[in-house]
Amino acid sequence: MYRDTYVEINLDNLAFNLKSIKDYVGKDVCVAAVVKANAYGHGAVEIVRTAIENQVEVIAVATLTEALELRRHFDVDIFIMGYTPSEYLDQVVKEGITQCIFSYEQAVKLAELGKVYQVRPKVHIKYDTGFNRLGFRDCDESIETIKKILELDLDVEGIFSHFALAGHEENVLQVKRLNEAIEKIDYNFKYKHICDSIAAVEYPEFHMDMVRVGALIYGLSSFRTKTIPLKQVMQFKSKVYYVKDIEEGEGISYNYKWQAKRKSRIATLPLGYSDGYPRNMFEKGMVTIKGHRVPVVGVICMDQCMVDITDYPDIKEGDEVVIYGDGSDSSLSIAEAALLGQTNKNELISRITRRTPRIYIKEGKVYKELDYLLEGV
Ligand SMILES: *Cc1c(COP(=O)(O)O)cnc(C)c1O
Repeated sequence: MYRDTYVEINLDNLAFNLKSIKDYVGKDVCVAAVVKANAYGHGAVEIVRTAIENQVEVIAVATLTEALELRRHFDVDIFIMGYTPSEYLDQVVKEGITQCIFSYEQAVKLAELGKVYQVRPKVHIKYDTGFNRLGFRDCDESIETIKKILELDLDVEGIFSHFALAGHEENVLQVKRLNEAIEKIDYNFKYKHICDSIAAVEYPEFHMDMVRVGALIYGLSSFRTKTIPLKQVMQFKSKVYYVKDIEEGEGISYNYKWQAKRKSRIATLPLGYSDGYPRNMFEKGMVTIKGHRVPVVGVICMDQCMVDITDYPDIKEGDEVVIYGDGSDSSLSIAEAALLGQTNKNELISRITRRTPRIYIKEGKVYKELDYLLEGV
């Protein structure tokens, strides 16, 4: 490791969360682990390795390239929940990936490719029950089209929808639409599913055959009325690189947007917005050093930022800095940091870039250090 700004990923906590989710949903419900966006910043390959070790059978991603990255490492069921343009479907079939579809043309194309590669491509039908993003519109014409798709040489393994989570009544209405459509289609799908993390915890009665969970496996969730035991998987850490004293009235960083109101001691940290630390942490952001919460001062630069440590003379160059912690020793949890950054937890962590190395902890010990920039060098 040649960088002191890194993400620490606790795979023991991931295993704990997977078990907790499985216990909650029961053995008749398949847990699909959502690992899009590099597993929300955790690093998809190692997250999937641990998921498979913990008997997860379906891995869900958003894009074809995410699926292909994982196919190089694992012979597991990989499901693309998003749209793949027709000209790339060849790769989907060739690599044995399960595709979301919501058009007859794509279904035909997949069936044709199945003949070429002598396989029965697996698909899940996306049915739009009100989120209005992707999926067959909720109408009788769609039902007829889906019935025609069922006659093609395809393995139509699933049908699914996605909650808008607009409110209890709206959620109930979405489930009703999906169930009515399934009844009209009159086909025994292996996997019917609609729940993401929040819904999976909130609505055990809507689990159907599968839940698609991202936030939960990483130990994050916005619980409303129910809760399950979880442990946060990620922490984001760095080191104090430089400490200096400045005079009252001196400015810090671009445009002197922060100026010292007193003689101040300032620490420079080797992380910036290009590592995924939001630029709008300026004015509100805090990090924890030796159990002290210290404020970010000056605008955040691409590769560095500054914090005011005037009140804590015990802070020295080389000290560990917790950017997002697990809440222990005064550290900010990801949830708290997201509030300060005026974003949500998923955005905060999925934007941590590949310049930041990942350190994986397994059975309490460092198990792997991954620097994407040096991989294969
Ligand atoms: C991202 C995503 C999920 C997982 O969402 P979480 O809230 O992280 O559980 C589930 N389903 C679809 C279609 C998604 O795009």
